[in-house]
Amino acid sequence: MHMLIDGKEVAAANETWMDVINPATSEVLGHVPAGTKTDVDAAVESAEAAFGTWSKKTTRERGLILYHAAELVRQNHQALGRQLTLEQGKPIREAIDEVRGCANILEYYASIAGKPAGEAIQLGNAGDCMVTREPLGVCGAIIPWNMPVLIMGWKVGPALLAGNTLVLKPASRTPLTTLKIAAILRDAGVPPGVLNVVTGAGETVGAALVKHPSVQKISFTGDCATGHQIREMTAHQNKEITLELGGSDPMIVMADADIDRAVEGAIRGRFYNAGQVCTAVKRLYLHEKIAPAFTKKLKARTEALHVGDGLLPATDIGPMTGKDQLARIAAQVEEAREREEGTILCGGCTLPGKEYERGFFYQPTLVADVAPGTSLVTNEIFGPVLPVMTFPDLDAAIGDANRTRYGLGASVWTKDIGTVKRVYREVRAGIIWVNRHLALPPEIPFGGVNESGIGRENGYNALESYSRTKTLYLGW
Ligand code: NAD
Repeated sequence: MHMLIDGKEVAAANETWMDVINPATSEVLGHVPAGTKTDVDAAVESAEAAFGTWSKKTTRERGLILYHAAELVRQNHQALGRQLTLEQGKPIREAIDEVRGCANILEYYASIAGKPAGEAIQLGNAGDCMVTREPLGVCGAIIPWNMPVLIMGWKVGPALLAGNTLVLKPASRTPLTTLKIAAILRDAGVPPGVLNVVTGAGETVGAALVKHPSVQKISFTGDCATGHQIREMTAHQNKEITLELGGSDPMIVMADADIDRAVEGAIRGRFYNAGQVCTAVKRLYLHEKIAPAFTKKLKARTEALHVGDGLLPATDIGPMTGKDQLARIAAQVEEAREREEGTILCGGCTLPGKEYERGFFYQPTLVADVAPGTSLVTNEIFGPVLPVMTFPDLDAAIGDANRTRYGLGASVWTKDIGTVKRVYREVRAGIIWVNRHLALPPEIPFGGVNESGIGRENGYNALESYSRTKTLYLGW
């Protein structure tokens, strides 16, 4: 497939290509241009040229185009979902969910097209002021490989509705569905240059986009280390930056929780998308009273999960999206095993058998009694491995939950409103779920504290973050 610059499907300036691999089979699925700085410059130039006309449309006109695009994405959910499974690995039903999620986001922003508003400030004899919001200009979006379609929606929806133009860089592993959705947006009426997609490596295309002096904002989702690099690269530029980075979400299960519901919450919260979710349950804390019964049920459910090619209907967990990702997860578990940092209850290795030979599969793994401060709980585990710990009371649970450098999400499972109040006030995170984990509908702001990032995506907050205020002072 080609990339999309100025509404046209083009190859890289130097005509080099890179492979896209199916992580379930290691087969080459296709090729995309290995873009360069020259391609980024061309995309930014096109976005700058398109900005004047796009930003002068009414918000309702832009919203209608997003609404139409959402309909087209939804109509094509089967084919887009299949494409996503092929390049990313996730089970087909999760891929279809994600495609629908992207449509929901575009539709949500279309639905609030009437909302962006400024304010009037009356200053008595000193005059009156009118404060309006204006788009930033050309924005850059850099997305990871774990939820490429959803995260594309998080960035495209608010950026375009607010009147900006965008240059988007997909992750090298998962560019195909993104390119198809970008083509759908074009067919829905997004004019040439308003949305450009440049494929290629992070160090070349990503870095060129971040450093480009005409790019007014970078919205990045990915690894903490890359986030730090982006801050360094922009240290001498006054760019707006949103960083959605890693997480190590705690899930706290109190003694009064609905155990069956919480077990299902932990299964979905940890193993959805093979555990490759920023807000996955990455540390499970169980009240001592319920820990034995809970762990027994959790182990039985985990062992019943079916690992396989995401295209097969029986598959609950697909492959890791990359070979290096598989190696990283295996090494994290191996290190914990060697250092005797916990007891492996199930999994803890790759899968035997011919059908798993060529894919990047890892068994769903539970590790019990993980000691505080050890690597499985201090580092982010971006795969199907769940450390399980116990606590005697709420004070201890809150203390454990906060013993992290991250702060993306957290959940508490309880029927007690007093417990909810304390967890909400005392656990440091961007979102606290009660009796659920993971859900991020388009309406709610999402983002982290501490190492998990800066800024918010989703909801009205994201729309505001793609605009700035401008004031007219009338000194009558
Ligand atoms: P990554 O940082 O390696 O890559 C993310 C994107 O950045 C890719 O498109 C990549 O090509 C690009 N990139 C790499 N180096 C770059 C550079 N020097 N300059 C500019 N761009 C560069 O991250 P990943 O491995 O793709 O994603 C996994 C991480 O993302 C995990 O830590 C996960 O928790 C996090 N994540 C966070 C959220 C969130 O919303 N907070 C959501 C999903 C994933």
